[in-house]
Amino acid sequence: MIKVLDSGSRGNCYIIQVGEEKILLECGIDWRNILKGLDYSIKGVKGCLISHKHSDHCKSFKRAFESLPKIYGPVEVIEKYNCHSLHKTKIIENKDKFKLGNFNIMAFNCQHTNSDGSDCQNLGYLIQHPQIGKILFATDTYYLKYKFKDVDHILIECNYSEKYMQDLEPYQMRTFKSHMSLETLKETLKTWDLAKTKDITLIHLSANNGNPKEFKEEIEALTGIPTYIAVPGLEIS
Ligand SMILES: [Zn+2]
Ligand SMILES: [Zn+2]
Repeated sequence: MIKVLDSGSRGNCYIIQVGEEKILLECGIDWRNILKGLDYSIKGVKGCLISHKHSDHCKSFKRAFESLPKIYGPVEVIEKYNCHSLHKTKIIENKDKFKLGNFNIMAFNCQHTNSDGSDCQNLGYLIQHPQIGKILFATDTYYLKYKFKDVDHILIECNYSEKYMQDLEPYQMRTFKSHMSLETLKETLKTWDLAKTKDITLIHLSANNGNPKEFKEEIEALTGIPTYIAVPGLEIS
């Protein structure tokens, strides 16, 4: 089961649970809400995967570090919280493969920028488990360099539509080099083999420049695959 605790620039956290095993994807919401999402028990949580250093993805890093067996993420995240630990943190780079319980995980580079326009190191994760299949997680990325196939569950950013982005102030232009538009996502999905894909969940929608109903309908019309919008409480099994 994949459970959304929150998604978007106010905070991101997802739980993947198979049997007794769980992993946390991001910890960018209040720790008490993470605990609530875990039914107040960290039992079975193998670790937390973090995409990048922006607070909406990792603000509860310290609590996760204290409470969970291991935190995985780019070096920028580990350095931000000054929490280097041989046993409790693992710096992840592009194409690293690792195992967490029965989850097999591969990281891949996403394309994101900071508010000053500089590159932000950001990772997506391909997560495989014998019982749930392959899950693709990619957020805060204005495009993806890689093509994927045989993915069972896709969690991917669909932040805004270009048609809501007319007459922009210069500072708003950052969105174009930071986040995935509906139009880019459609072009991306067209190039993937989606034969095995059971569901697509659109994550990290912009509150101002997104349109959940329209995005869901457009992706379903394009792919013929059930599509969901990541809202708190959504569960996909
Ligand atoms: Zn974000
Ligand atoms: Zn970000």
